[in-house]
Amino acid sequence: MKKFTLLVLSLVFVALAVSGCQQPAKRNAAGVLAPDEQMVNLYYLAGRLEMKTSLVTDRKIVLSGGGNNIAIFPKDNYIYFNDKYFGTLGKTKNKDGLIYVRSSLEEQIRKEIVKTTPAITPVIPKTIPKPTKKSWADGEGRIIVIDPGHGGKDPGAISPHGFYEKTVNLDVALQIAGILKDSGFRIIMTRSNDTFIELDERANIANRNNALLFISIHADSCATSGRNGFTVYVAKQAGSSARNLAEAIDRQMTGTGIKSHGTRQADYRVLKNTRCPAVLVEMGYLSNYWEAKQLKDKNMQRKLAVAITNGIINYVNRSKY
Ligand SMILES: [Zn+2]
Repeated sequence: MKKFTLLVLSLVFVALAVSGCQQPAKRNAAGVLAPDEQMVNLYYLAGRLEMKTSLVTDRKIVLSGGGNNIAIFPKDNYIYFNDKYFGTLGKTKNKDGLIYVRSSLEEQIRKEIVKTTPAITPVIPKTIPKPTKKSWADGEGRIIVIDPGHGGKDPGAISPHGFYEKTVNLDVALQIAGILKDSGFRIIMTRSNDTFIELDERANIANRNNALLFISIHADSCATSGRNGFTVYVAKQAGSSARNLAEAIDRQMTGTGIKSHGTRQADYRVLKNTRCPAVLVEMGYLSNYWEAKQLKDKNMQRKLAVAITNGIINYVNRSKY
């Protein structure tokens, strides 16, 4: 009986510990439970909102980041958002020199950020260049393999909102394939639905079909939620063709408004094992709350597909195939 009680107690403890993890709003900056569960200190709130505290006095605290600033006046009990009155602050507390505010403020501010953050305006040309070689327009050119990363049992990265990388990759890859086909290119997709394909098989599809190019589409993820931007990868031993292709895509993607980390080298299996010039595009960070939202957005997906396609066509038109 005693053993059973112990087991139940330890299960309850584990359950409490787990639920504590899922409610970070109840913790302060040091990760210790805040003295009052409904209150969070301002440094913690700034961290949650991916903002910095740029001014801290007894009367005024300013949080800023992402082009927004929030001025909090604890003594006067009100908040300003981008220099406009936003509302009352509500309950506050000063403990050990730290100012605590209600945790619900985070959600309230997030909603305002969504409303006021301007949408990215693309500078992508509306028209897509046509391939210059007659054989391309006739559908006689060699095949381009488009590889939407992950799929089936492998979701890839998962956004804070709960959607999967495999879906974003497929959505964009299908659009790239569509635009290239319309321009006269022959396309093979490594997957065109939600199925799992081994990495080696993806490279083999390109090799078996004597492909001209291999384009792998992914979205990034990392532990630092603030990190954003796209990266175009080639294998470490990649020749100048793959590097030129990567740079052509990089140049076009900059027009989507997503920050460029440029062209990098990494020995991903799909890059290392393909015989033709191969690139892997990490379109942006799904681990970043805001960027993930953009990557899921249909309009942004179209912009990305057009940019990647334009990069491919520009490269093909300049090369001597
Ligand atoms: Zn991936």
